Amino acid sequence: MKIDGGCHCGAITYDAEINPDNVIICHCTDCQTISGAPYRVNVPVSMSKFDLRGAPKEYLKTGDSGDQVATTFCGNCGAALYSYKGDEPRFVFLRLGSVRQRAELTPKLQGFCCSALPWAMDISGVPQIPDDSHAPPRGVRPEHR
Ligand SMILES: [Zn+2]
Ligand SMILES: [Zn+2]
Repeated sequence: MKIDGGCHCGAITYDAEINPDNVIICHCTDCQTISGAPYRVNVPVSMSKFDLRGAPKEYLKTGDSGDQVATTFCGNCGAALYSYKGDEPRFVFLRLGSVRQRAELTPKLQGFCCSALPWAMDISGVPQIPDDSHAPPRGVRPEHR
């Protein structure tokens, strides 16, 4: 499947070709901390099918496996883009939130479930606001943040 995407400010964009069956949720604690979200969703892309425009910043971390992992993000808007291992990676792991077609890409597997936030495993029972605003603190008007 051909996809495209980029960061929030538009400084970095890409085209890629992926297998939708490889979309995976990661509940590891690094994904929680680095993404600022309860879990992260990734899809691998072969380097030969990844056309990147722009220069993301990189943050090097040592993964749970002991390998060095580079996680990339836009230096201007901070949006997470992808990660990879090693000097000559064969794959990058795209962050699903950066993919324009993300609504069509249902995850097929979830990993590191041992560190999953218990409430994040099923949010269907959380009361829903019918419009697109966030729940405001008491006395604050709803608006995007
Ligand atoms: Zn940006
Ligand atoms: Zn993870």
